[in-house]
Formats: sequence, structure tokens, C-alpha cells
Amino acid sequence: MKQTCVIYWFRRDLRLDDNPALCLAMAKAHDLGVGVLPVVVKRRDTVDSLYGEIERNTHAQAWADDAEGALAASLRERGSDLWRCESIDALRALMRSTQASHLYAEHIELPYEREAQGSLSRDATWQTHFIWQSGLFDQDLLPFSLNALPKVFTAFREKIEKASLRSIAPLPEPESLVPTPLFAENSVIARVTDSSAFKPSTPGSIAHGRRSGEQAARQHWQAYLDRGLPHRYFETRNQLSGPDFSSQLSLDLAWGTLSVRRAAQMLDAFEASDGRTKSSYWLWFEWMWREHFRWISHAYGRQIFAARGLSESAPKPTATVNDWQRWTGGTTGHAFIDAGMHELATTGFLSNRMRQIVASYWLNDLGGDWRAGAAWFESQLIDDDAYSNTGNWLYIAGLGTDPRGGRRFDPDKQAKTHDPQGHYRRLWA
Ligand SMILES: Cc1cc2nc3c(=O)[nH]c(=O)nc-3n(C[C@H](O)[C@H](O)[C@H](O)COP(=O)(O)OP(=O)(O)OC[C@H]3O[C@@H](n4cnc5c(N)ncnc54)[C@H](O)[C@@H]3O)c2cc1C
Repeated sequence: MKQTCVIYWFRRDLRLDDNPALCLAMAKAHDLGVGVLPVVVKRRDTVDSLYGEIERNTHAQAWADDAEGALAASLRERGSDLWRCESIDALRALMRSTQASHLYAEHIELPYEREAQGSLSRDATWQTHFIWQSGLFDQDLLPFSLNALPKVFTAFREKIEKASLRSIAPLPEPESLVPTPLFAENSVIARVTDSSAFKPSTPGSIAHGRRSGEQAARQHWQAYLDRGLPHRYFETRNQLSGPDFSSQLSLDLAWGTLSVRRAAQMLDAFEASDGRTKSSYWLWFEWMWREHFRWISHAYGRQIFAARGLSESAPKPTATVNDWQRWTGGTTGHAFIDAGMHELATTGFLSNRMRQIVASYWLNDLGGDWRAGAAWFESQLIDDDAYSNTGNWLYIAGLGTDPRGGRRFDPDKQAKTHDPQGHYRRLWA
């Protein structure tokens, strides 16, 4: 019989727990009596912007490398392994050389990622399976068709709540992993090493002292629940800095080291034992924003990356190259904005409030193009998630889902409210 294998491509689902696509790959390999070869594909280390290519922030790179290293270690402990392909072409070459019959991976509903999925699916010598699993719900659970997806968040959330939807139940990790097939090492792949060389992020950064990876993500979320912090979240969520003002779960959700469905199940268990409050509900409420932006991407496709976003037209940006350099470099001369841009570049993170404030400054005070601002965030944020990033930028620009047509955050007023003593400005000046 011809020797073949199944390939599992880990994308933004760097975990074994609650990974339906991985379970399907294992089951298929079991049925066929062949091995499963787990791979990742190297990320681009730059982001394209209207002002040229931007290098990714080193903290974001380190966090993702750490997540992959931890995954490789987990796979090895279970008799499997993890390999890295340099590019999609290298993945294709690997599939040819291993005579792979099936490729499984999570489905990503974004143009560049869909192109990659499409190009791999065109080859008739294997079958591809891309499974949607990065949100709380599957499409067939939604109480409306995608054509009728409410564009406004509140209407979306209310329909979900009226249908009593909370989350799909998470799956346990596969009971046993099918071992990797034996094959000759070749130039298109390299074994992913563990992440012992990982350097913790800058002091003051939200990621400081934290490790990435599945186990660390689960421990982080469990500790947040054990300390009863969901009951404080509503009061603290708009703060700018500090260890516990928000859940910091975006770092794990963005790389899929914790599935949002598992996180929801753990929050449910917390509420069952410690009670549900407005504050603990609000965490789920925030996940609904994440969910809404995901379905917006399904419903509108490439349009979410257009200059006009979901609107009929967009005002012509007026920012100059000099404005771009001042904003990205944190030298606008506005101390509050510059502190935010320094924090972002230095740590790879910003609170939600500060993201809104510096984004609004780029759009409303400097007259910038939202796509350039979003590209800067994409290059800098550890928790870069294209659905949430694009959705939030369009929202503030008034080109997306905001029923009020966009928001200006007055930086002086915001500084007075959120940094009355100037601590934040001094910290990141
Ligand atoms: C301009 C702009 C760009 C953004 N880019 C990203 C991004 O690339 N990746 C990303 O994960 N979030 C993004 N956000 C949303 C939000 O700022 C972060 O999710 C949040 O600050 C992460 O910190 P946390 O996990 O402690 O959040 P918490 O306040 O603890 O919230 C819990 C979770 O809810 C979700 N969430 C909260 N607020 C939002 C929101 N406004 N939109 C979507 N999901 C939300 C996140 O998954 C978050 O982890 C952006 C917001 C703005 C204004």
C-alpha cells in the first residue's frame, strides 16, 4: 500500500485542548492507519502599510515563539513532534514529498489566510479540511443568517442572548496523538525547538513575568478566577496600567493557547460557585465584541480592509509622512499620546482605553488613514488579532459598526479622567 500521512497545520490554535480540527485529523489518520505530521508555517516578520513595510515588535515575536515552543514540548511528551515550514509553498512541497492525503487546519476568515487555504485546496492529490473554531459559536448556531447579521453590536448581542446562546462546549484534548510518520528530513522543514531561550517582556509590560503556551494560559485564567477578579473587572477595566485591571486574556486568545470556549466554560464554573455579577457577566460581554467582529468578517469579507470600510465613502486622509513618524515614534508633542505610543512599542501591549485614545488621535487629530494605524497596531501588539483590530479601528473611524458614526476621544479630557496625577505619563514618557 502507498505510504501516506495526514498533516495538521497549527495556525492561531497553538493548543491540544478544545481543538476540533486536530481531533478530526487524528481520527482520520487513525482510520487510514497513517501518521500525523504537525506543522506550523513561519510568520512574516513584517507588516505592509501605506508607509512601507513595518518590522514586527520583538515582544510579539517572542510571545508567539514561546507559544510554539510550548506546543512542540507538549507534542513531544505525547510521542509526536512539531515542524516548521518556511512558507505556504514549503508546506505544499512537504505535502508532495510526504504524499500526504489530507491536510487539516483551523479556518481563518481573512483574505490573505483564505488565499493560502484556497491555494492549498486547488491541488487534487490531497483533500483539505479547514474548520472554524476560533469563536464561541459555529455559523449554524447563530439565530440569523450571515446576510441578516446585525451590523450594530448591541443588536447582535441581544439576539444571541435572546436565543440563550453562551458558547459551544469545549472538547478535551485527543486521548492519544497518532505518532508522526517517519520521513527523511528535508530542506523545507525544521524541527521547532522548545522555548528555553525566551526572554520575559519589559518590566511594566502586561506580559512581564508571564509565559506563553497552553499550560501557562490555562493557569493564568484559572488564577484570575481563583482570585475572584471577575467580580472586580467592571470597576477596573478602563484603567491604563497595573497587574489586574483587565483579564489579559487577549494574549492567549489571539494565539489560541486557550480557546475562548474553554475560557467561557471556566467562567461558567466560577459563576456557578461564586455567583454571577454584572462584573463577571461583563467579561462575556467583551468576548461578544470579539465574536461580533469575527462574524462581521464572515459577512463582509474583503470589504473590511477597504479604505471606506463598511461605509459608502471615507473622508480623504490628510496626515503627512511626518505625522506618521511622529505618531508611531511617540513624538507628537502630546505627552499622553506619546506615553501610549511608547508603551505600545516598548511592551507590545496597550489597555483598551489607551488603544482607543491613540487610535482616535491618529484618525481625528492627525487626519490619518485608519489602515495605516491598524497596520501599526498589527506590527506592535502581542495580541494582534486581525478581526478585533480591524473591527475596532473601523469602529473608531466611523467606517464600521459604530451606530454613532465614529468617536473622537479628546486626549486632554481623557488624560484628566484616566491619568489625573500623571503617573501613566511619567511611567512611559
Ligand atoms: C484600536 C483597537 C485595536 C484593537 N486591536 C486588538 C487586537 O489586535 N487584538 C485583540 O485581541 N483585541 C484588540 N482590541 C480590543 C481590546 O483592546 C483588547 O482585546 C483588550 O484590551 C485586551 O486586553 P484584555 O485581554 O485584558 O481585555 P479584557 O478587558 O479583559 O477583555 C476580555 C476579552 O474580551 C475581548 N475584548 C475586550 N474588548 C474588546 C474589543 N473592544 N474588541 C474585541 N474584543 C474585545 C478580548 O478577547 C479580551 O481578551 C483593540 C481595541 C482597539 C480600540
